[in-house]
Amino acid sequence: MPNSNKKSKKHKRKNHCDKNNDSTGNLADLSSNEDDINIMNEDFEKLQVDKPYQVKYSEIYGRYLVASRDLKKGEKLIETDALVIGPCAESLPLCLGCYVDLINVPRKYYCPDCGWILCQKNCPGYHTPHGHSEWECQSFKEHNLASFLLKCDEKDIRFIFEAILSLRCLLMRQAEHDKWIKISEMESHNKIRRNIPTLWDRNQELIVDRIRYQWGYKEFSEDEIHTICGILEVNSFEVGTNGCRARALFPEAYLICHDCQPNTTHTDDTLTHKLHLRTTIPLKKGSTITLSYSYTLQGTLKRRDHLHESKFFWCTCNRCKDPTELGTHASTLLCPKCTNGFILSTDSLNQDADWKCKKCCYAVSGKSILILLDRLFDELEVLDPNSIKDYEEYLKRYANVLHQNHYLMLSAKHSLCQLIGRSDGFLINELNLSQLQRKEQYCRDLLAVVNVFEPGMSRLRGIICYEMHAAMMMIITREFENRTINSNQLRSRLKEIVKLLHESNDILKIEPIGSPEYSMSLAAQDALKKMGNI
Ligand SMILES: [Zn+2]
Ligand SMILES: [Zn+2]
Ligand SMILES: [Zn+2]
Ligand SMILES: [Zn+2]
Repeated sequence: MPNSNKKSKKHKRKNHCDKNNDSTGNLADLSSNEDDINIMNEDFEKLQVDKPYQVKYSEIYGRYLVASRDLKKGEKLIETDALVIGPCAESLPLCLGCYVDLINVPRKYYCPDCGWILCQKNCPGYHTPHGHSEWECQSFKEHNLASFLLKCDEKDIRFIFEAILSLRCLLMRQAEHDKWIKISEMESHNKIRRNIPTLWDRNQELIVDRIRYQWGYKEFSEDEIHTICGILEVNSFEVGTNGCRARALFPEAYLICHDCQPNTTHTDDTLTHKLHLRTTIPLKKGSTITLSYSYTLQGTLKRRDHLHESKFFWCTCNRCKDPTELGTHASTLLCPKCTNGFILSTDSLNQDADWKCKKCCYAVSGKSILILLDRLFDELEVLDPNSIKDYEEYLKRYANVLHQNHYLMLSAKHSLCQLIGRSDGFLINELNLSQLQRKEQYCRDLLAVVNVFEPGMSRLRGIICYEMHAAMMMIITREFENRTINSNQLRSRLKEIVKLLHESNDILKIEPIGSPEYSMSLAAQDALKKMGNI
C-alpha cells in the first residue's frame, strides 16, 4: 500500500479497560491507591483550572481525561514535549539523535565519544536531551555498547535498537529524574503480561538479559526492566514522518481512553516530535476524551484481537458492540446461499461467536471467518503497491464475497484513491473520464465510512476530501469542454468542490509545517484562491 496509508495508521497506546496495577522494583505505582489518586487529581485540577481537560478516576478505567468545559471541534487539548523518544519494537537501525532511518544513509558515521552509529557529523540530535544525550553517550562509552553493534547479525540488530529505548528510560532515573518520575507513574500491566509467556519470555531474552547480563547494567533489576518494557508497550505513541519512525512517551496524553470511534486526533512536530492533540468533534463538558489505539479502518474481529494482544484489554465500545459497525457494514460478508443476504457476527463481543446470514440463517463459525479474513488480507498485502490494475481486480474478485464497505474493500479503495491521479502514467491530467469517475467514487465510498469512524476533523477525512476534489475538478472541466454539463449542474458541483477544499484546508492546516498533510492544505488554499467566489 502507498506510504500515506501507513501514515494514517498512527496509533496510541493506553489500556483503560483493566484495573490491574502492580508495583515492581523501584518504580512508583501511584495508580494503585484510589485515595492517593483523588488527592492527586484534586491538586492536579487546582493547578490546571484553565486546562480544557480534567483527570478523573473510575474503578473500571483507572485515571482518564474528560472535557473540563464545552469544547469546540479542532480545539487544542494537549501540546507537550515527549518524556522520552526512541526506536520502535524490532526497529530497523535508526539514528539515536534524530531518528532517521539509517538504512538509506549512504556513509556510516560514528559518535566521536562513544562510537555508536549516528546519521552524520551534524546530526541535530547529537548531545541534545531528546536525542543522543550527553548522559547516554557517557554511559554507552562506559559499557562499550558500540562493540555489540559490530558483533551482531542483521536480525539481532533490531532487538538491540529496541532494547536501547528501555535502557534509555532506565538511565533517566539518574539523569532526568523529574521525567523518570512521570514515566514510572505509567501502567505496565506486569500482572497480565507475566502470564503471557510468548511476550514475557521474549522480553526476558531479548531485552532484560541483554541489558543486565550482556551490556552489564546490573544496577537495574529484572523486574524493573520488564516494567519499563510494559510501560513502553502500553503507553507509547508512534511518532515521525518522512523517513523517520520512532515511539515516544508523553505526559498526560497517555491517560486518554481508547474508543474505536475516537473524538480526538493527534500529530507530532517533524523535528521535535512535540505532541499536538486536539478534538475532532465538539465535546460537552464532562465527556470522556478518547483516541483510537488501533487502526480505525479495521474490522471488529481483527481490531479487538489487536487491542487485546497489544494493549491487553477487550474493547466493548459502541462500535465493537454493534455487528453492523454502526451501520457501516465494515465487517459484513455477503451470503453465498441467498441473494443480498448479509452475514454478521451473532455476538460481536465474543470472538468465537458464529456468524449468520440475516436473511437465510446460513451460519459460519467465527474461526472460519478469521481464516477467510486472513487469506483475503494476505492477498491484499502482496499486491503491487503501485498497481491500480491489481487493486481494481481485487475489488472485482471479492465483490460477491465482501460488502462494498468491508474494511478489506476500503483498504483497496484507500490505496486507489491515492494511486489514481498520483502514480506514473496516471497523473491527474492524464486520466480519462472513466478513471476520474472511479477515483471520485472510491473517495466517496471511503469518506462515507470514515465520516462514521473518524467523524469531524480527522486527518484521514482531510486527505480524502482533497483527493476527491481533485477528481471532481477534472471531471467538470472535461464535461464543460464537451458541453455535457449545464450551468446549474456546474454551479452545484463547484459548490461541493469548494466545500471539500475548505474542509480539507481546515483540517490539514494544523498539521506540522513540512508534513505532506500540511503541504496538502497549502494546495487546497491555492485551489480556493484560484476558484475565487463561487
Ligand atoms: Zn541523526
Ligand atoms: Zn555518543
Ligand atoms: Zn471498540
Ligand atoms: Zn443467506
